[in-house]
Amino acid sequence: MPQPVLYNLSLAELEELMRAWGQQPFRAKQLYRQLYLNLTNDPAAMSDLPLPLRVRLHHEAQLDPLELVQSQQADDGLTRKALFRVSNGALIESVLMIYADRVTVCVSTQAGCAMGCDFCATGRMGLLRNLSCGEIVAQVLWACRELRAWQVKLAATPHTPIMSTGEADTQWWGSESGAFSERVTHQVNRVTNVVFMGMGEPFANYERWWAAVERLHDPNGFNLGARNMTVSTVGVVPGILRLAEAPLPINLAISLHAPDDQLRSTMMPINRRYPLAELLAATREYTERSGRRVSFEYVLLHGRNDHPYQAMALAKLLRGQSISKGPPLLCHVNLIPWNPVPGVPLSRSERSRVHEFQQILRDYGVACTIRIERGASIAAACGQLAGH
Ligand code: SAH
Ligand code: SF4
Repeated sequence: MPQPVLYNLSLAELEELMRAWGQQPFRAKQLYRQLYLNLTNDPAAMSDLPLPLRVRLHHEAQLDPLELVQSQQADDGLTRKALFRVSNGALIESVLMIYADRVTVCVSTQAGCAMGCDFCATGRMGLLRNLSCGEIVAQVLWACRELRAWQVKLAATPHTPIMSTGEADTQWWGSESGAFSERVTHQVNRVTNVVFMGMGEPFANYERWWAAVERLHDPNGFNLGARNMTVSTVGVVPGILRLAEAPLPINLAISLHAPDDQLRSTMMPINRRYPLAELLAATREYTERSGRRVSFEYVLLHGRNDHPYQAMALAKLLRGQSISKGPPLLCHVNLIPWNPVPGVPLSRSERSRVHEFQQILRDYGVACTIRIERGASIAAACGQLAGH
C-alpha cells in the first residue's frame, strides 16, 4: 500500500484516515491545523499530537511530497525561486515574490508542458507529468515558510536596507509599476496571492489543480480568498467554460499573445484546436456568466507581435469589432516583457515599442498595464521555468 500523502487529503479524508488508524476524529482537525496554519511539515514538531501518532505519521504517511533541490534569490532577496524534485525524479519550480503590499507565489501545475508554445522554456521540455493536488499545495506552503524565515532574519537585522533599484536592463518595467522604488515595510506577513502561472497548463490538469484551489481556500485551513488566486491558461476553451461554472470566484488570465489566427497558430499550437473566434466566444461566456473581468496576457516580441497595426487589431478584437462581434469584452491587457530562453532566436520589444503598444490600446479604450519584471537574473521570470 502506498503511503498517504497528507497534502493530498481534504479534512474529511484526514478524518477518515484518523478513524482508520483508531484515532479520535478531532485529531484530524489538529493535524489539519498543523499542516495549513502552523505550516509544519515534520510530524516531530506537531507537539499537540500524542507521541505514538507522531511516530506513526513519520513512518506511515508522507508529509511533504517536494524535495528541495536548490533555492536562489534575486532582487535583493525579494524574489526567491525553488527547484523541487517530485517522485519519479521530475523537477519543478516555484517563485516567491515579496512586494510592499502583497506577497505572491507563482506555482507549477505540471512538470513540463505539452502545449509547445515556441517562446516558452517550459514548452520546450514537453510534458513529464501532472502534479498532484498535494504537490501544488506544498509549493504554496514552501513559500509561506520561506517568507517566515526571511521575516525572522529581517527582524534580527532591522537596519538592513532592503530597497532595490532593479537591474539596468529591467529598470523600465520597474519604473512603470514602481516595483523597486518602494520600500518594503514588512507589513505583509503571509502569502497573500497565489498565481498558477508556473510550469504547465493548469486546465490540462484541471481536477488536481482545482482540488488545490479548494484546499487553499478552505476556511478551516489555509483560508486564502478566492479573489487572491489567479489561474493562467494558454486558451483551453473547455477549461474556461468549466471555470465559468465553478463555485469560487478566482481570477482568470488568458495568454493571447497575437491578434490574429495566423500568427497565434505559429506561436501557440493550441490555436489550431481553439482558434481566436472560439476562444473569445468562450471568454465572453465566462465574463457574462461570472460577471468577472478577465485579463489577457500579451508577451511582446520584437518585430513579431509588437507592430502598431497589431495593437490596433488587438484593440478591435477586444472591443468586439472584428471576428468576435458584440459589446466590448470585460477585460484588461497585461503586456509582458519576453524573457530570454536559451536557444530561442527571439528578442524582447524595445521600451518605446512597448509604450506605444500600450498607448494604442488605451486610445481604443482597452485597459492595459505592463507587468512588473521579477527574477530574470535567476531565470525565475515568466516562461523561464524549465527545471534547470
Ligand atoms: N500555461 C499557462 C500558464 C503558465 S505560463 C499559460 O500559458 O498561460 C505563464 C505566462 O508566461 C503565460 O502568459 C505565458 O505565455 C508566459 N510566458 C511564457 N514564456 C514566456 C517568456 N519567455 N517570457 C515571458 N512570458 C512568457
Ligand atoms: Fe505551456 Fe504556458 Fe509555456 Fe505554453 S506558455 S508551453 S501553455 S507553460
